[in-house]
Amino acid sequence: MRIDLHTHSVRSDGTDSPAQLMAAAVAAGLDVIALTDHDTTAGWDELEAGRPRGLTVVPGVELSCTSPVPGGQAIGVHLLGYLFDRGHPAFRAERLRLRESRQGRAEEMVARMRAAGLPIDWEQVRAIAAGAPVGRPHLALALVQAGRAATVDEAFRRYLHHGSPSYVRKADGDVTDGVRLIRAAGGVPVLAHPLARRRGRVVHDNVLADLAAAGLTGLEVDHPDHNPEDRQHLRGVAGELGLLCTGSSDYHGTNKKTPIGAEGTDPAVLEAILGLSTGTQAYAD
Ligand code: AMP
Ligand code: FE
Ligand code: FE
Ligand code: ZN
Repeated sequence: MRIDLHTHSVRSDGTDSPAQLMAAAVAAGLDVIALTDHDTTAGWDELEAGRPRGLTVVPGVELSCTSPVPGGQAIGVHLLGYLFDRGHPAFRAERLRLRESRQGRAEEMVARMRAAGLPIDWEQVRAIAAGAPVGRPHLALALVQAGRAATVDEAFRRYLHHGSPSYVRKADGDVTDGVRLIRAAGGVPVLAHPLARRRGRVVHDNVLADLAAAGLTGLEVDHPDHNPEDRQHLRGVAGELGLLCTGSSDYHGTNKKTPIGAEGTDPAVLEAILGLSTGTQAYAD
């Protein structure tokens, strides 16, 4: 059984439609995928309606959160949520709040880049995002269109990385609250790429312990941004804290280089996730 529990579609910052994503999963020989678009469940209905026979699809989300640092700037973290009730009012309100915050933040980033002489504009970015919650990959595509970067990755390195003058923070919520919201909605929370240092500062092990105490279920250990030492370390932490270990590609279509199915999750871990959820069920034959 081949299982990839973290992928993105055009409903956030991936480049495949939900139908194309499922076709890519089948072509790659996968048996199970989760769709985890940033701060939205907009792709869920297309998954359920268009699912190819034999492919199991786990509906999920990747929630934008922060982890506060006493006396310092909060660290941005991503929280995967699986199989929650998308109608749970408080969790639904938080996703809406995050999507609205993304829009104001992206407009501010466009304004800063225009002020720096970069020939992009908000209408162009809006067209690229096509109704999805706006993220930096959409800004990157606008910069590629404008000829200011050859690739999305180059646009990140030159203009969009955390610490660039054009970078603006989003109004992300506290990660502990995120864990509680996902659990309250019957879902299963797993911390995404906890040691992806390339993206900025990462949380300490004591934060992982606090999150475990608040109801976190697992850590995404096998991820393209983790080196072998990171993975070994996280497996040790997960063992100590009684957390599940997942593995996933974080596939974004052509916005990133990693192919779907590049990393995988153990079938027993998937079984545990399915067993823990009370919010909704996986789409399956
Ligand atoms: P945002 O949520 O708007 O701050 O944008 C973060 C998203 O940008 C993440 O989902 C990453 O997938 C993506 N991202 C970060 N760095 C890169 C990069 N170097 N190349 C492509 N995508 C990236
Ligand atoms: Fe993304
Ligand atoms: Fe992420
Ligand atoms: Zn992701």
